[in-house]
Amino acid sequence: MLPDATVVRLGHRQQRDKRITSHLGLTARALGAQHFVLCGDQDQNVLDTLDDVTNNFGGNFNSEHQSKPMKWLKRFANDGGQIIHLTMYGQPYEEITPEIPKDSPIAIVVGGAKVPGEIYKIANFNVSVGNQPHSEVAALALFMAEYMGGVAGSEHFSDAKLEIKPHPSGKVVIDHTEDSDTS
Ligand code: SAM
Repeated sequence: MLPDATVVRLGHRQQRDKRITSHLGLTARALGAQHFVLCGDQDQNVLDTLDDVTNNFGGNFNSEHQSKPMKWLKRFANDGGQIIHLTMYGQPYEEITPEIPKDSPIAIVVGGAKVPGEIYKIANFNVSVGNQPHSEVAALALFMAEYMGGVAGSEHFSDAKLEIKPHPSGKVVIDHTEDSDTS
């Protein structure tokens, strides 16, 4: 079973970040997170996009908006969760990821416009994916692949309506709703 992982997106700006925040949520789901917490602007379009994909492609992934991320994170830590903050200033992910527990829930925090300094202090691990500024989606993908032990481990999604079968030269999609119609 995959570890219990939540991705927390800080400081979302509805107009400027709508695509990248959706991509962040989709990446979280595809690589094995179960929850997505959107902070900053309340943006129902992002939450609906994630719900639509989960509805079609399966899995137990849910998302919510939180207006007070620090409060949410402190409660998460009080309940025994580990906070992982992705930041170019942190410790190299290849070295530190093996030390992150897999038997307690983790919240993976990625920044937006401005990251409050307090995050660095409440994080159990400040983790870098290289020490250059780049993309939150790239940082999340590389960290999660390392933490989850690759992408393949998360590839089975329960109750999928649509399932993609890898194919060398075309698109193969199994529509399980058609299966149930014909049975
Ligand atoms: N412009 C923002 C600022 O000045 O604070 C940062 C934008 S950056 C694209 C957004 C987020 O991507 C960061 O908060 C961090 O979570 C993640 N990120 C970017 N580069 C990273 C790196 N090298 N390692 C880990 N995370 C990184």
